[in-house]
Amino acid sequence: MLQSHQSERPSPDPTVLHAPNPASLHAIELQGLWQRFPGSSGGSEWTLQGIDLRLERGELVGLLGPSGCGKTTLLRLIAGFEWPQRGVIRLAGREVSGPNCCLAPERRGVGMVFQDYALFPHLTAWGNVCFGLRQRQNKGRAAWLLNLLGLSELAERYPHELSGGQRQRLALARALAPEPAVVLLDEPFSNLDVEVRLRLRSELPTVLAQCGTSGLIVTHDPEEALAICDRVAVLHDGRLHQCASPQQLVNQPATSFVGRFVLQGNVLPAWWQGSDLHTLLGPVQPLSGPSLPLLSVQEAAVEVLVSPDDIELEADDSGAGKVMGREFLGRSWLYQVEQGDVRLRVRRPMDMPLQIGQHCALRLRPAAVVKTFQATSSPQPSLVPS
Ligand code: ATP
Repeated sequence: MLQSHQSERPSPDPTVLHAPNPASLHAIELQGLWQRFPGSSGGSEWTLQGIDLRLERGELVGLLGPSGCGKTTLLRLIAGFEWPQRGVIRLAGREVSGPNCCLAPERRGVGMVFQDYALFPHLTAWGNVCFGLRQRQNKGRAAWLLNLLGLSELAERYPHELSGGQRQRLALARALAPEPAVVLLDEPFSNLDVEVRLRLRSELPTVLAQCGTSGLIVTHDPEEALAICDRVAVLHDGRLHQCASPQQLVNQPATSFVGRFVLQGNVLPAWWQGSDLHTLLGPVQPLSGPSLPLLSVQEAAVEVLVSPDDIELEADDSGAGKVMGREFLGRSWLYQVEQGDVRLRVRRPMDMPLQIGQHCALRLRPAAVVKTFQATSSPQPSLVPS
């Protein structure tokens, strides 16, 4: 609708959009999406708050965030199972949801893969993949997809005769069969055991690339997102904190939440004393960054991101820290240590296991360099009088 108006009225103004050029269109374009469910939290809280996101063609993007942050809601809006209160959704350049239109799910050209496979139990693997192809009689594609996903030998089996991994491969083949521009995957690997999960997730980018399809995959596992995605969008409380390549997320987390959730880092309050930055673990050496000189001059409150590997820990009965929990990671221990009202993650080699309840002394590794963020409770630098 909008597009036809625009293409009918050529304009010399270069800022006005003309008929879409298919080669330059984004697979998914989300613009200012807001969503609120009636009845949730008294109807006052927005589940999604102004989400802007674009997926390039062929890109695999991870939607990463803690439980309840709005990942599935965002996927359901794109698929057309929910309608946003505000904002626009375009798929391959076509507006499918906005103030003037809301296309039904089956007309959006989107494939879906769910955690629980959602296969047709009364159809064989072949029947499941062919289901979306009936109109087109394109059985060659079904055979090609079954082969691509290593299921050719199992084509005559019913879903209950397949393993979990095989069922999820079949669900992916079925989603890809009608040649969608985009596949939305909602925690597709969470029901699989570790070995199958690792194999299937490493194959996903190749399968999507072979089909020329973009993917948006929901996960709450940072390791999974960083391992397979071209870019990762980090969501928290309905807001998009950062969408960047795995390397950028790790090296330049945009917010302290990204540092805590993606890198499993410790976010500590910090304060300036003269030109030195201090935390409860002592003085820290900040990574230089654009915000630092300003904050330093104004002595604004900041937070620092400290890696679990940068904290040293030793048993000390008069120490201020106390071990509250521990996990054996195979080659190291991850301790939960409480000091004052702060809980810290500390990763130490396996040669010095500390018991739960043990008092301990904590200090920062001398060479540790920390990333600084403006503390959420502190005033905006621009509002601080000079
Ligand atoms: P998880 O990782 O646990 O699946 P999520 O990030 O996918 O979580 P959503 O399922 O999108 O989170 O839910 C986001 C918020 O919206 C939650 O607080 C949830 O309770 C609420 N919510 C989702 N669907 C509805 C609905 N139909 N009605 C009311 N509230 C809803």
